[in-house]
Amino acid sequence: MLEKFFSKETSYLRTSEIRDLLKLTEGRDVISLAGGLPDPQTFPVEEIKKIVNDILTNYYDRALQYSTTAGIFEFRKELVNLSRLRGISNISEKNIFVTVGSQEALFMLFNILVDPGDEVIVEAPTYLAALNVMRTRRPNFNSINVNDNGPDLDELEKKVREKVSDGKKIKLIYVIPTAQNPAGTTMNLDNRKRLLEIASKYDFLVVEDDAYGFLVFEGDSPPAIKALDKEGRVIYTGTFSKILTPGLRLGWVVAHEDVIRELELYKQNIDLHTPSLSQFIAMEAIRRGVIQNNLPKIRRIYKEKRNVMLEAIQEYFPKDARWSKPIGGMFVFAWLPEKIDTTKMLEKALQKGVAYVPGSSFYADYSGKNTMRLNFSYPSKEQLVEGIKRLGETIKQELNV
Ligand code: PMP
Repeated sequence: MLEKFFSKETSYLRTSEIRDLLKLTEGRDVISLAGGLPDPQTFPVEEIKKIVNDILTNYYDRALQYSTTAGIFEFRKELVNLSRLRGISNISEKNIFVTVGSQEALFMLFNILVDPGDEVIVEAPTYLAALNVMRTRRPNFNSINVNDNGPDLDELEKKVREKVSDGKKIKLIYVIPTAQNPAGTTMNLDNRKRLLEIASKYDFLVVEDDAYGFLVFEGDSPPAIKALDKEGRVIYTGTFSKILTPGLRLGWVVAHEDVIRELELYKQNIDLHTPSLSQFIAMEAIRRGVIQNNLPKIRRIYKEKRNVMLEAIQEYFPKDARWSKPIGGMFVFAWLPEKIDTTKMLEKALQKGVAYVPGSSFYADYSGKNTMRLNFSYPSKEQLVEGIKRLGETIKQELNV
């Protein structure tokens, strides 16, 4: 009724299919492989209880007070230390900016960087909520397919060259180099270097979303692309959601001071600053080694669950399906035979008692109709097996229609 009063901006807002789906499954016997929640078993609750108690005893005057827009100074210092674990050195607290989850970081970055019509590069598929923010800026999307090593850099270079010869300039690439959501891919070190060389040669920015950089459970986690950056070209985002708890709503940016200054102006208009109490809790969690000591447990739990999911897929999915074998993170991505449209199939899956996210929402052009994202971090192992079994049956029935 009141739509006529809404600004034009609202017409670019897209509902998150994940959220709509979760609504559909509420209160029903549906195993949801659609979400993206961490396993609550990974939350270091006893340590957090103690930390909160200590903070409210010793620092209540600051932890319950307003604080600065860029983030509490001592916390930013700890974030310099934490970033070092991702290979990022040669930075100071002046290069750090604290945000309400990394989602706010992405929201602010795309708003301060992207104008309508700007050429942006994204992976196909890529993180849905980042795409949705970018869509509100109305850029021109250039999608690069991912292979086992992340974005196909030959395709990237070709696309960039084409644009340049058309007289266009690329503004940025948004990339999730480690345990990508949704595709589960990880770029190796050589590809990280090469991406940076291409960005340097054609002078565009790299927005690196490192949401899962600490969550590699097989082999070594390659250093962040930011760790290789000598030109201030890479803008890095990190999050506490997967390494501590998402409920604190804490993320951070590592970037050149020019970017930090602009973020500061922008955030003052949004929410003044990130909650002080959350920052104090995370700061103490780093200082006391709670996060560092808890990472092996998180990795072990997710590795076990990934194995359970992959074994179930191997058993129950048709042989002509393909799927990722992620070395970290929380998701498996599947490519089904072309004749299947996973958006259309969803209702049948829900009837069988299993939910997933249709893959097309992870593509800037809504292609990827035969793909789906499956979450293994939240469901129990029993639910993973049963959910994949139900899904396998749904797919096989769909193939026979
Ligand atoms: N980036 C990626 C790739 C993610 O998967 C997520 C969470 N699903 C986020 C950013 C945002 O997370 P948060 O706002 O909780 O930090």
